Amino acid sequence: MPDTSSTPAVDLSWAELPATARLPVLFVGHGSPMNAIEDNRWRRSWQALGTEMRALLPPPRLILCISAHWLTPGWQLTAMARPRTIHDFGGFPQALFDQQYPAPGSPAAARFISDTVRQPGSGLPLALDAGDWGLDHGAWSILKPMFPEADIPVIQLSMDHGRPAADHFAVGRQLAPLREKGVLIVASGNTVHNLRTMRRDATDDQAWDWAIEFDRTTADHIAQRRLPALCDFQQWGASTQMAHPTTEHYLPLLYAAGAVQEDDQPRFFNEGFQGGSISMRSVVWA
Ligand code: ZN
Repeated sequence: MPDTSSTPAVDLSWAELPATARLPVLFVGHGSPMNAIEDNRWRRSWQALGTEMRALLPPPRLILCISAHWLTPGWQLTAMARPRTIHDFGGFPQALFDQQYPAPGSPAAARFISDTVRQPGSGLPLALDAGDWGLDHGAWSILKPMFPEADIPVIQLSMDHGRPAADHFAVGRQLAPLREKGVLIVASGNTVHNLRTMRRDATDDQAWDWAIEFDRTTADHIAQRRLPALCDFQQWGASTQMAHPTTEHYLPLLYAAGAVQEDDQPRFFNEGFQGGSISMRSVVWA
């Protein structure tokens, strides 16, 4: 594990930073936590994507991650200088629990984002979490393959799970200007996520009919630039209840979609499924 104890957190004066070229927005299907350490096609795509993001001019100054695995009442931002690596899963090999992702946080950037984004409904600034959370596996399992140096500060944004889809999209809209402040928005979930129907014997291109149907509807809206229509997913018929018995893995997509601008083009990658009922479909908008 790299020794980062001497690496200072990057705390620039965010409000005064000049605008930069607009960074892409990512939605990444994370799937099984084992993808963090297994050499497979999903992880190899993440590695290639990280190389691509690092080559951007300017490169990302901060990563803002919206993970399916941090649900709170109201919206919160991690605001600690040294977020801990959270192993929020059970029944996996010790090698997975041994993983650390020692990227710094950025209390100054968290304060800036909290000041500029209002919570739908209450109009309150985003709340700051200085100690409870950290980086859950929805964040680090994809960021570690993408940015193994762990030198770009990472902030997580929670989701108020009880709120309607349109509110999540509205928060995403408010994140859009951050893309011109050197912030790489990385939303991490899955366009289809049903653990109860997973089949160990399914190959990457095999999936249940309802999984294919829901994933395709999602992809069509993205490709046809009908992004607000993604908020209507609970009206897409019987496939919705099967694709998302609970909605936390779908909602991060709404944050990414909300931050997309008129002239951004979507590009899909990692199309395919894990276990027949987790879609790994991912999108880069740039
Ligand atoms: Zn997950």
